[in-house]
Amino acid sequence: MLCKYPIMADEKRNTWLARTKRTITAILPVSKKRRGKCVGCGACCKLPNTCPFLKYKPDGKSHCAIYAIRPLNCRKYPRTESEFITADTCGFKFE
Ligand code: SF4
Repeated sequence: MLCKYPIMADEKRNTWLARTKRTITAILPVSKKRRGKCVGCGACCKLPNTCPFLKYKPDGKSHCAIYAIRPLNCRKYPRTESEFITADTCGFKFE
């Protein structure tokens, strides 16, 4: 099944350095300015490359094959506005 969403991330900020930073800072709390919810676009599962655990449902929405044990940076994305690089399709926003 193909993803119903196009590939979408701020490519200039979609780097392994940014990924490393998100991994390290994932121990910190999620910003209180975050609103919304995940809509299953799968964009954050492609930062900076496509995760092997990213799967798609028949309706084109994404899901995680290891959802219950997914890493902290996946659980908390987008943790802060400065780390948020998938705003075009993500269901989360920052006030
Ligand atoms: S980018 Fe946002 S809406 Fe899309 S899968 Fe990640 S958290 Fe969910």
